[in-house]
Amino acid sequence: MSSTCLLWMRRDLRLHDHPALHRARAEFDVVIPVFVLDDGLLHGRYASSPRERFLAGCLHALDEQLRERGSGLVVRRGAPAAELRALARETGAAAVFWTSDVSPYARRRDAEVTAALREDGVHPVPCTGTYARDVSRVRKDDGGAFTVFTPYWKAWERLAARDVYGAPRALGDLPAGLDRGSLPAPDGGVLAAPVCEPGEPAAREALRRWLDGPVDRYGDRHDTLAGGTSVLSPYLRWGCLSARECEDRARRRGTAGALAWVRQLAWRDFYASVLLEHPDNVRREFQPRFRALEWVDDADGLDAWRRGETGFPLVDAGMRQLAATGWMHNRARMVVGSFLTKDLHLDWRAGERHFAELLLDGEPAQNNGNWQWIASTGVDPAPYFRRIFNPILQQQKFDPDGTYVRRWIPELAAVPDDRLAEPWRMSPAEQRDAGCAIGLDYPAPIVDHAEERRRAMDRYRAASADAAA
Ligand SMILES: Cc1cc2nc3c(=O)[nH]c(=O)nc-3n(C[C@H](O)[C@H](O)[C@H](O)COP(=O)(O)OP(=O)(O)OC[C@H]3O[C@@H](n4cnc5c(N)ncnc54)[C@H](O)[C@@H]3O)c2cc1C
Repeated sequence: MSSTCLLWMRRDLRLHDHPALHRARAEFDVVIPVFVLDDGLLHGRYASSPRERFLAGCLHALDEQLRERGSGLVVRRGAPAAELRALARETGAAAVFWTSDVSPYARRRDAEVTAALREDGVHPVPCTGTYARDVSRVRKDDGGAFTVFTPYWKAWERLAARDVYGAPRALGDLPAGLDRGSLPAPDGGVLAAPVCEPGEPAAREALRRWLDGPVDRYGDRHDTLAGGTSVLSPYLRWGCLSARECEDRARRRGTAGALAWVRQLAWRDFYASVLLEHPDNVRREFQPRFRALEWVDDADGLDAWRRGETGFPLVDAGMRQLAATGWMHNRARMVVGSFLTKDLHLDWRAGERHFAELLLDGEPAQNNGNWQWIASTGVDPAPYFRRIFNPILQQQKFDPDGTYVRRWIPELAAVPDDRLAEPWRMSPAEQRDAGCAIGLDYPAPIVDHAEERRRAMDRYRAASADAAA
């Protein structure tokens, strides 16, 4: 009699380099891939209509790839523990394989699934595959977890990497008569122009193009706002690409740019290991001394930030890129994050929430880790004044010819380069020539950066001093 197992897919929506799939096929005759549409996730704290639509697109692509190989994706909707248990009973599956994850929600859910399966004598098999390394194994010599990136990176480099697996050429049929369920429709969502197309085939093509040349200039160009990075984060987030395969292929490319890019992939692993070790970070500051920081309550400021109408062109360009595409350049993310927390003095959690709603790559480990980084409350500490970004200087340095800002703020298209970072300094005649009246066509700055910088320093200094007292 043939043996059967389930492959419970979550955010590992690919067939290449999929350790759980690889192992399931090695151990069982029939592997049934299943995705459970979990209302707890779709409508919970991390709900996001752009990501829901992207997910639907990824599932359609995955189903097509599975059908080409003789199989198909089974879809269920409901609580994963109940749905998987029922499907295992129905198909006589003896095991359920999945790719493990680090967020508190994922871990709670997986523990429930594990318990439910065990009650039925079904074997739960969590596997690695979300990150380039098994993040639970990158440890200090004394076994403790890292909170600083550079030593983490060294240990990460030392840890032997697993093999990279190809995609199976063929997969067995699904059991006859099994109801496949229905895939969610890939429509809705609020993005005008999503930054990339969902699914593994599109992801692999984007990776191929990136590694074919642009990656070589990553070291010099990664901070260039109008380009310079891979834009693969949505694919990594949904597992359309395996981080381990990305690493392997970049190492084979072997250029300085490719190796610098590998280091960036390790940041992703680093923040995963931080959340694994410190699940409370999703709700509160990692550094106790900053838990008493008093954040300002300013609904108008938050609204202007969200809409990209602060009057600071780089901040606004970043926020509008996010709203239109579901993605923002990392340098812009840092600048808008600094602006929210250190110019407007608003709670970093409000920024984290807004990003989580819109980012196609949004996920708790990376979003929280990076928000706490920019708010200076997290791991990998640096003095808070080193992470107060001047939006004017940042724009002059990383968008010197204004390509990025003009792309996202068409009202500023005709503003001369030397006025573009501070358009409010244009004389009335310059505003007329540029067809942009400040305060009418484009907002005047809502704060004075130099003044707010001083306030931020005072607030952080006071919080540190209170904690030390
Ligand atoms: C406030 C803030 C919030 C963020 N929220 C998220 C988030 O929710 N999800 C997310 O994936 N990234 C997040 N980032 C990190 C980073 O901005 C994105 O990963 C990056 O911009 C993705 O673009 P890319 O694929 O072109 O990156 P590349 O520069 O090409 O880098 C390759 C990959 O490395 C990883 N990576 C790069 N930088 C970082 C970083 N700082 N932290 C963690 N991983 C990194 C990403 O997976 C990325 O795709 C956030 C950064 C900030 C400052």
